[in-house]
Amino acid sequence: MHPFAFTKASNTREALNAGRRGGRYIAGGTTLVDLMRETVERPETLVDITGLPLRDVLVTQGGGLRIGALVRMAEAAAHPAVRAAFPIVSQALELSASAQLRNMATIGGNIMQRTRCTYFRDVTAACNKREPGSGCAAREGFNRSHAILGTSDACVATHPSDVAVAFAALEATVHLLGPDGERSVPFADFLLKPGSTPNHEQALRKGELITAVEIPPLPRPLKSGYLKVRDRQSYEFALTSAAVALHVRNGVIREARIAAGGVGTVPWKLPAVERQLIGRRPSQALWAEAAEQAVAGTRPLAHNRFKVALLRRTVERQLRIVGEMV
Ligand code: SF4
Repeated sequence: MHPFAFTKASNTREALNAGRRGGRYIAGGTTLVDLMRETVERPETLVDITGLPLRDVLVTQGGGLRIGALVRMAEAAAHPAVRAAFPIVSQALELSASAQLRNMATIGGNIMQRTRCTYFRDVTAACNKREPGSGCAAREGFNRSHAILGTSDACVATHPSDVAVAFAALEATVHLLGPDGERSVPFADFLLKPGSTPNHEQALRKGELITAVEIPPLPRPLKSGYLKVRDRQSYEFALTSAAVALHVRNGVIREARIAAGGVGTVPWKLPAVERQLIGRRPSQALWAEAAEQAVAGTRPLAHNRFKVALLRRTVERQLRIVGEMV
């Protein structure tokens, strides 16, 4: 590990001042400390933000939710308001990582976590995300876990978060605070596809801090859930996942919010699947027909062709599970 300075911010102003000078924010540290040990990350200064007042879960007007950036994953998953209104979020959190990690890691840190591409974490391998311009070892290497959507010549790594898939499906907003004040970014614009600059992963300006993630109010009743498919049943990242929320009234689907994980360079919203469902009556045939849309535009690599069929089946299965709750 490279030497670094450490400071603890006692208020937001101190944190922003340190961030403006190039300090890296740290809360649970469950990704960043690992990466520092492996010398993938070499920050000069860490700014501990765990003392900032960003730990509330609030029900917003109309029935949305605002989850503070420093709410622990386990706290958010267990919160009665989250469980009641958006089980899709609780389920995504509970299917993530391990109990120990969920007790430490925060919501803000979860969506900021970096890819699990093994070449990214191996400092001897070529990796454009870690060392821009060095190449991408995964393209010609072992790429079974990599992305089939949103890839570029420069990078094919997946985004590893589960709850980010739920946030993408629900069209959440990320609230930010920086040296120039507050602003809000739609979740769909917050995490960046790799393009030619895979080292730029979030739409954050220098020194900006995530303060909260806000889920908008959605029509009730809303049934939702998260399905994760992985090589083993705990402490494993998704091969594919599906976040589905449906509002059905008088036997007709009026609203659908759907996204997939484990397959995209960012959590992958599925608007074509949503369009296929809206205005239709739930049926087995409809779930299968809509799930076909999930795989449009996929670009599999040498070792992950199986993800195309697995994605279609994951989406179909989760549509059926949530559709039968309605
Ligand atoms: Fe690096 Fe992305 Fe290639 Fe993995 S897929 S080696 S993260 S550039």
